Amino acid sequence: MKSIQKIKGTQDILPDTSGKWQYIENTVRTIMERYGYSEIRTPMFEVTDLFARGIGQLTDIVSKEMYTFLDRSKKSVTLRPEGTAPVMRAYLENNLGESRPVQKLYYISPMFRQENPQAGRLRQFHQFGVECIGPQAPEADVETILVGLDIYQELGLKNFTVKINSVGDAQSRFAYKVKLQEFLKPHFSQLCPTCQQRYETNPMRILDCKNESCNALLTNAPRIFEALTEEARAHFDKVLSLLDQNEVKYEIDHRLVRGLDYYTYTAYEFIGGALGAQNALGGGGRYDLLAEEIGAKKQTCAVGFAAGIERLIMAMESENLFPERNDRIDVFIATFGGATQDAGFKLAHQLRKENISVVTELMGRSLKAQMREANRYGARFALILGEDELQSGRAALKDLVKSEQKEVALIDLAEEIKNQL
Ligand code: AMP
Repeated sequence: MKSIQKIKGTQDILPDTSGKWQYIENTVRTIMERYGYSEIRTPMFEVTDLFARGIGQLTDIVSKEMYTFLDRSKKSVTLRPEGTAPVMRAYLENNLGESRPVQKLYYISPMFRQENPQAGRLRQFHQFGVECIGPQAPEADVETILVGLDIYQELGLKNFTVKINSVGDAQSRFAYKVKLQEFLKPHFSQLCPTCQQRYETNPMRILDCKNESCNALLTNAPRIFEALTEEARAHFDKVLSLLDQNEVKYEIDHRLVRGLDYYTYTAYEFIGGALGAQNALGGGGRYDLLAEEIGAKKQTCAVGFAAGIERLIMAMESENLFPERNDRIDVFIATFGGATQDAGFKLAHQLRKENISVVTELMGRSLKAQMREANRYGARFALILGEDELQSGRAALKDLVKSEQKEVALIDLAEEIKNQL
């Protein structure tokens, strides 16, 4: 019988790499807390409607990529493909806005999308992200960008850029869509079949198209910047000025747009320089109209980003940024079966209560094999516990790093080790 394998597009994070994940997650938490963001954990699955309305029927995610199924009570549920709609749902459902007009939330979670797996594109992947819910001030937009940048900088990443644009408000976008359609009309037949559909349903998404002929057409397309209302332009100007004041380098990318109507004002991306085709490390922006889309009674302003962890790991590996692993244990206790094994087992238990990390032999192997095991664990000390040692209550504590050894009374062992660590 063929052995069972993992599902295509998923990954086992094995002990030799889980340290990299912890390193990134710890850095994310540290920086989030520095900015006053608190962690939120929402369920891994939600009613399908949340994403259909909160991401939009016309997006690739909703139309092609969601893991959606009927549960046993025939309710349609979906594995979370992104974090923003669930966080907004939780914010509204728990009335978080009542207790604090500004809610700064972050998450680190797995996401699920049925995409074609390739390097940097998985079916279960992980994101960290922030949502700053409440303020419409440009400071909030810039703060989210700074959080992201601080995380990348703290991790040592050098090869990345920030791209930014404004998609304006509903009025700006309406005006822009008309302009774009007018511009594309004479070239309609040169658009790819998908963009021909987008022309009617969601023309702004044509700007995202990777097809070369569409791309070529768009070189001289009107820019959304020219269609921004005065308010939208003032918001964007302030965002850029704050970035300048805080010495953030960015590129304005006029084609960085989000096709959905609830996105407003700022849109930005973090682009990894060494990532090849899947080079987006993260993307974010303002979405003042999303809350109403999923049932809020009044406008709830919000801005945030989501960033991929797998791609960040790839970027960090290419810049050689992970520190040496430091998961040594303090002591390995070698024993010789029978009473020595029981005594070693108990001693280990006592030392662990003193905050000392200890491994004991679990396979009854030879001393040589046990010392090899101690090396695999990177043990600082080895304690060799035979019959004689049990009798005398004293044993040799070998310092495997300094290649020294010292005889210690078992009763003083914890103190001795703590003094030397
Ligand atoms: P999005 O939610 O599509 O804006 O994606 C935000 C970030 O998540 C991207 O910039 C990627 O770093 C990461 N990401 C999105 N989809 C995937 C995927 N299928 N596999 C791995 N990372 C992904």
